[in-house]
Amino acid sequence: MSTDTSTNSPITTRRRGTIQRWSETLIPTLREAPAEAVNPSHRLMLRAGCIRQVGAGVYDFLPLGMRVLQKVSQIVREEMDAAGSAEMLMPAIVPVELYSGTKRDVEYGDLLFKLTDRHGRDAALGPTHEETVTEMAKGSVTSYKQLPLNVYQIQTKFRDEFRPRAGLLRGREFLMKDAYSFHLDIEGNGGLNETYDRMYQAYVNVFTRCGLDFTVVEAEAGPIGGSASHEFMVNADTGEDTILVCPATGYAANVEKCEIGERDWAFAGGGDQPLEKHHTPGMPGIELVVEHLGITADRMLKTIVFQKVGGTKCKWVLATVRGDHDVNEGKVRDAVGFQVTIANEKEAKEAGFAIGYVSPKMASQDDTLLLIDPDATAGTWATGADEKDHHVTGFDWARDLGADLPTKDQQGGKIRVADIRNAEAGDPSPRDASAKLEAKRGIEVGHIFKLGTKYAEAFDFSVLNEQQKKQTVIMGCYGIGVSRTVAATVEMSHDDSGIIWPVPIAPYHVVITVMDPDKPEHASVAEDLSEKLADNGVDVLVDDRKERPGVKFKDADLIGIPVRLTIGDKALEQDSVEFKLRGEEGKGRLVEMPHVVQEALSKLVGG
Ligand code: ATP
Ligand code: MG
Repeated sequence: MSTDTSTNSPITTRRRGTIQRWSETLIPTLREAPAEAVNPSHRLMLRAGCIRQVGAGVYDFLPLGMRVLQKVSQIVREEMDAAGSAEMLMPAIVPVELYSGTKRDVEYGDLLFKLTDRHGRDAALGPTHEETVTEMAKGSVTSYKQLPLNVYQIQTKFRDEFRPRAGLLRGREFLMKDAYSFHLDIEGNGGLNETYDRMYQAYVNVFTRCGLDFTVVEAEAGPIGGSASHEFMVNADTGEDTILVCPATGYAANVEKCEIGERDWAFAGGGDQPLEKHHTPGMPGIELVVEHLGITADRMLKTIVFQKVGGTKCKWVLATVRGDHDVNEGKVRDAVGFQVTIANEKEAKEAGFAIGYVSPKMASQDDTLLLIDPDATAGTWATGADEKDHHVTGFDWARDLGADLPTKDQQGGKIRVADIRNAEAGDPSPRDASAKLEAKRGIEVGHIFKLGTKYAEAFDFSVLNEQQKKQTVIMGCYGIGVSRTVAATVEMSHDDSGIIWPVPIAPYHVVITVMDPDKPEHASVAEDLSEKLADNGVDVLVDDRKERPGVKFKDADLIGIPVRLTIGDKALEQDSVEFKLRGEEGKGRLVEMPHVVQEALSKLVGG
């Protein structure tokens, strides 16, 4: 969804604007960014004096950066409040037992910052607060009459990211808005779905008001199924996430979730090549073996072994895709109808699977299902030989698996054909048979999720329903990366000279560049204009530094303030100031003094 910012006024309330003298604040602009800063937002926010690195993935927010962070936070706060969520604050230090109750201390692994206090008690720095909030609600909510409930906080989160990168985009300490809702039911009045839809709309409002160009994508759903999770992605070529979009219908999903439209398939092969065994020592992956065999990855079958989760009897699921494709675990789960996980290597080997060299023939094993992606059917293939360090060429489904193969009318047996791989650009759209999926890059700034009962069950959190019976509470969670949103804005909106802040989150709306601050006339015009602008809710930065005009102009562009007013002798002779919008070429145009405030307001409100 592309957003329209034309109705986006910075002056949403009658608040008086801020007036700040450059000489009295700290905006340490830099000519060059450090070499390790590669991403535009990282480079430009350092150069514009918005942030300063303190340690790996840890930053100071200097005054300019702080103002943007506050503006984004305020928009988030207003929209969350309007959507009926109540602000609260949970601690950053969380007793580690809370996370062990849900096994997330293990699931998070090294991502969790752990610490031990002077009494030897273990704690974690909260990476997110599902556990803390569930325990809080359990302690205070006992009856259905107290539901639904929706609370949020805007708080610093900690994740010991393996590779913190790109400045604020992936920090180890970052600002997040996290909201949690509690319900008795999924459907109906007060149910999870109703709140989820309201949060969805609140997120659309937040990112639209911030002036972002974004796409809402379907994400992996998790336990409840259906369209139970969405990610909000800022459209930027530098984003690390790939999203797939159907140009005909607007359907958008991330790679983990994206469905693929109907694909034709048949097992007709050549059958004329003999099955030939090759010694391929130490080549369990695709890359080395295709080189060794002198073929391309799209002529090779890749078979991944999964294991059923839970249950006493061990069930195996083989997933076969073309060598250049990737198996999608969620799709495998959906195709078999139960939870799966990548097989434990030791157990799988004991059951006879030559991990790294498995072929679809292993479908003949007991308790084993085989899923085949449509693109991995017709033709003659290279595949594993079900023996360590060996592959075969000339594999033909019809000849080598024969009678067990499904037909289009007869699916559902031990061997099935199903969409089990990640989608790619060029795949048929699942919503329009004639359209092809297109790939775009994005930055995940928000994520909403129907949690179901996972956390309530782990904490044994139930309430009495209307019939006075205990009922497990259903939850949803809703996150926004506030500091990442600031950086994503810069990724999306900059040029060679610097940042171009969208008006609603610009640190200041107007920069008044005073050519000669020592001249009383320059100073008094600057003061008069800034007072009038502030009276109209405009935030003004007065560049009163004793610097050359060239330096001031460069800095004004670098820090990305939407409107620049320049006060100099030439313009003043005509009772005017130079008026220039960020991103406009040249010096700007003269606007007569009585019209300056109106002109600035019209440009700011106009977007
Ligand atoms: P990612 O996939 O980018 O690691 P995530 O899916 O693990 O993020 P969530 O748990 O969904 O993150 O957290 C909610 C939001 O917090 C994300 O949508 C993102 O905007 C933000 N966020 C997560 N990790 C970081 C980080 N290391 N630095 C800055 N923001 C982050
Ligand atoms: Mg996420």
